[in-house]
Amino acid sequence: MSKAQIEIDHIGIAVESLDTSYPFWKAIGFNEDKNPEVVSDQKVKVGMLALANNANIELLEATQADSPIAKFISKRGPGIHHICLRVKDIHKILNQLKALGIKLINESPVKGAHNCLVAFIHPSSTGGVLVELSQKQNSKDVL
Ligand code: ZN
Repeated sequence: MSKAQIEIDHIGIAVESLDTSYPFWKAIGFNEDKNPEVVSDQKVKVGMLALANNANIELLEATQADSPIAKFISKRGPGIHHICLRVKDIHKILNQLKALGIKLINESPVKGAHNCLVAFIHPSSTGGVLVELSQKQNSKDVL
């Protein structure tokens, strides 16, 4: 079987609060993200915990009551929110998925944390898992 040239970028975990989440992660050897990024479009504060294999645990704290993360937590409680796959050409993949009738939350990429272009795929098309695609954005790229 051939392998797809796709890597896990991060696993997103919805948390009530970054501060109360850190003790566990620090206890097993992660360093606290001292500079969590606020992604205002998504109404979240993002704490990244770097894994050794170039992937991350992404802790997501809602910054507003109508944030998707706040809604997720009120419906299902804290927990794994999404899995993010790192892709090379997000536009191309989104077009392929669209052509196949896959239900997309973002028909076009939006700005994510850490200067990435991201798009979410609806869980109804993925077996119940919210999947995020992410492409590292070059500074010269324009949305
Ligand atoms: Zn994410």
